[in-house]
Amino acid sequence: MENCGDEVFFRGLVEFSNVCTSDCFYCGIRKSNAKPNRYTLTKDEIVECAKFCADEGFGSIVLQSGERQDAAFAEFVEDVVRAIKSETMSAALPQGLGITLCVGEQKRATYERFFAAGAHRYLLRIETSSPGLFSRIHPPKQTFETRIKCLETLKSIGFQVGTGVMIGLPGQTISDLADDILFFKNLDVDMIGMGPYIVHSDTPMQCHEKETTARKDEILQLSLMMIAVTRIVLGNVNIAATTALQAMDPTGREKGLLHGANVIMPQVTPLGVRRDYLLYEGKPCIDESALQCKGCLENRVTSIGRRLGKNAWGDSRHAIEKKPF
Ligand code: SAH
Repeated sequence: MENCGDEVFFRGLVEFSNVCTSDCFYCGIRKSNAKPNRYTLTKDEIVECAKFCADEGFGSIVLQSGERQDAAFAEFVEDVVRAIKSETMSAALPQGLGITLCVGEQKRATYERFFAAGAHRYLLRIETSSPGLFSRIHPPKQTFETRIKCLETLKSIGFQVGTGVMIGLPGQTISDLADDILFFKNLDVDMIGMGPYIVHSDTPMQCHEKETTARKDEILQLSLMMIAVTRIVLGNVNIAATTALQAMDPTGREKGLLHGANVIMPQVTPLGVRRDYLLYEGKPCIDESALQCKGCLENRVTSIGRRLGKNAWGDSRHAIEKKPF
């Protein structure tokens, strides 16, 4: 409470494309999985989602997708960011919606374009701060060094930067998790998004299904403890109660809030494509409309005595205090 008050901020989550050139061993939308229908929403569809968020008082939006590094993708994202900014300015939101991007590893020039277009936050999880574990869950082309470099680049451009890890990865130790929190601290990030690792059966890591399922309760507890300890060690950053927590436990997100999280990301991805954005199995909220998700999450927040932060970007105090003016 003393770090971030009793307000909980909503960021509408739009999973705008599942086209992906990466091949992360844990992820259901990895390039090598032929099962999902690959889709990319149009600019107009994404702007519609953004207007919904603005009308509902969310204040901020997160645009997430699979990873593409081609020029057409960079141009598309830049264009969408500009359109959202201009279409969502109002008396309540004089600078339009706050925009967080989560579109993976990109070149500096691409990140700069996104920032200039008006996105001011960027989420890029390190997934694990252990280089050895990182290399076991990614193909050799995807390196720990590149991920770190991207995080440094994002910071130097001026983005508020978020990172995070998956908890309960096969072979991950408590000491790895403690190091993860020190990694967040040393990187001096503004936002944290982390949650349990959940098996997807069409991935190479499905061979760990049995042990991961057997550890379910322990992994949920560890995830909540990670939120609590991160809140204590990092203080006034924003911490998300992620959807993956709710996939593990119907009240997982409330528990996340009670353990120190202060951000929730309601689903606003159009219903028709949600089933094609399954990073892991048992993902909740794939049949509810955006309005139902909002209502449900509002109830979850107020049920535990917290307040909704409306029509505000909801930047972390950490980020606000860092600003030079
Ligand atoms: N491509 C973008 C965003 C999509 S993935 C990026 O890489 O940033 C977003 C996050 O989902 C990943 O960072 C990862 O931590 C998480 N994720 C992917 N597969 C998962 C799984 N099986 N269980 C839990 N989280 C998963």
